[in-house]
Amino acid sequence: MKFVEEKILKEGHVIGEDILKVDSFVNHRIDTKFVSDISKAFAEEFKDMGINKVVTIETSGIVYAAFTAVELGYLPLVFAKKSKSKTVDESNIYKTEIKSFTRNTVSEVTIDKRFLSPEDRILLVDDFLAEGNAALGLIDLCEQAGAKVLGFATVIDKAFQGGRKILQDKGIKLVSGASIKKFENGKVVF
Ligand code: 5GP
Repeated sequence: MKFVEEKILKEGHVIGEDILKVDSFVNHRIDTKFVSDISKAFAEEFKDMGINKVVTIETSGIVYAAFTAVELGYLPLVFAKKSKSKTVDESNIYKTEIKSFTRNTVSEVTIDKRFLSPEDRILLVDDFLAEGNAALGLIDLCEQAGAKVLGFATVIDKAFQGGRKILQDKGIKLVSGASIKKFENGKVVF
């Protein structure tokens, strides 16, 4: 999507070899017009697939998932939890482990069993797709419930880090706002 590429070129910063910093519109300050525009584009791509639920992981994916769920007709949105809480009923959760790309840690991620079901046809939404670990973890949680994952929408896909191929091999439709081919001398190449 042209407007996403332009936004990245204007506001994004390449950190080291493999990270794109976009905290001025994705990960810290949120550009709500940008969220609204990209969510409309996501919904347009997935509107005829019989999606009945949107799933993401806290934190940065939630706002994109929520706007997209609204555009798809006020679908329910479930976000997987990374943090432990006394309000979580440990006996009634689906659990998996996800390696964080930016923190290099592995954390347990959960969804309450009440919020996924075998009838669900799911669209996953996240801010980035890199190695695909977050995507695989979310797919695992959905599959534990017998739900079917049909699509994955991401603002930015770093195609050189493997996640794109993992989803394609699984037959999951991938839509990204911008697909990055590589970083070269601190610049983004689409
Ligand atoms: P994956 O699990 O696909 O390796 O990485 C996806 C997750 O890592 C996303 O949820 C995102 O939060 C984070 N992430 C991966 N690459 C980047 C990046 O270049 N910049 C930022 N800000 N986050 C990233």
